[in-house]
Amino acid sequence: MSLNPKRAVAELKELRALTADENGAQRVAWTDVWLKARQWFAAKVKELPVEQHHDAAGNSWVTLRGESEKALLIGGHLDSVPNGGWLDGALDELAGLEVLRRIASEFNGRPPVTVRLVDWADEEGARFGRSLLGSSAFAGTHSIGADRSRTDRDGVKLEDALRRCGVEIDKFPETEKEQKDAAAYLELHIEQGPVLERMGLPLGVVLGTKGVERHNITFQGQEAHSGSTPMNERRDALAAAAKLALEIRAIAKKHRDAVCTMGSVKTFPGIVTAVVGRCEVTLDQRDLDAGVLAQMYREAQEASRRFAEEEKCTVGWSRLWNIEPVPFHPQLVKMCEEAIRETAGTSHSMPSGPLHDAAEVCRAGIPTVMMFVQSLKGISHNRIEDTREEHLEMSVAALDRLASKTMDWIVKQR
Ligand SMILES: [Zn+2]
Repeated sequence: MSLNPKRAVAELKELRALTADENGAQRVAWTDVWLKARQWFAAKVKELPVEQHHDAAGNSWVTLRGESEKALLIGGHLDSVPNGGWLDGALDELAGLEVLRRIASEFNGRPPVTVRLVDWADEEGARFGRSLLGSSAFAGTHSIGADRSRTDRDGVKLEDALRRCGVEIDKFPETEKEQKDAAAYLELHIEQGPVLERMGLPLGVVLGTKGVERHNITFQGQEAHSGSTPMNERRDALAAAAKLALEIRAIAKKHRDAVCTMGSVKTFPGIVTAVVGRCEVTLDQRDLDAGVLAQMYREAQEASRRFAEEEKCTVGWSRLWNIEPVPFHPQLVKMCEEAIRETAGTSHSMPSGPLHDAAEVCRAGIPTVMMFVQSLKGISHNRIEDTREEHLEMSVAALDRLASKTMDWIVKQR
């Protein structure tokens, strides 16, 4: 049986018919539709000479034993956001299955290295607000202490939702044993952004996932009557914040792939007849280079102090969250580039703005790389999410080439 990329696309459509309604995919983790998707997938896998099991965090593993215990890992996630797209996460999984079929057939069920396909549990964090739940348990970077009491919109606790699916949160640390013999990790994903489409390219190699600095910034001025306070005597907190909102664009534009976003602005008292006395904003800064990220953070702080002073206000910062950039393995990046060039003619290198399970696997010290396939209009987490079928097929073929190269590489590592 040779690789059949068309079958992967047909199976993606089958999954969509099974788990989507008129608003999009409904495979939210720890729900019945998600369990149904996993059952459907398990039935497909049964035809192969493999072992299947769920680990302590509910990640689903399919293992094709090879001559060597050293394992090539290929991963994705069958869960989706509510009203999600048909490709986010599922493409990785169905493409991985097709590659696994080809490898099983080519080597008569016994490839030179072990090949494992993983379906990460709850990549999206759509229900409880904790993304990368399963892969963080794998990597040993989980935060069960803080996560167990998270609740969904109906007040259901995360701990209880997991138990219903046979997962005990206290056993999460046991998930780390799945790292044993993992020699490389590959993940194919839709880009979820507009870059490849704009460049007219089907595929790109992902250099790593960007680090994030996320902060609350509060400008403090003086509430005052909007009719009686002369313009030059105001201490307008919103004016200072607005200057910063423009400045962060200039700060980001100095670097090729950096992004800065002020996503939330709250004004107090927030009424039409008062000068804003306090303004709270959020800032999210991302880049693949830790030095660039630190510099952008510094520049934003300096700018905020300058604008506060200009508007006779004060400013305070508090960190909401941050994560270091995660650069992928240089050797795997090179092989991914070759696989793409051999499949599509041209390749493009880019960082990923969104986080992916691959970042957690990489943080666990396992050589990792990701491949992106073009997203139409750059839209994802939405039922209109789409990619041209010929590009989907190319992505399956390129992942297959990359898997072969990586298996050879693992053999040589011994
Ligand atoms: Zn995804």
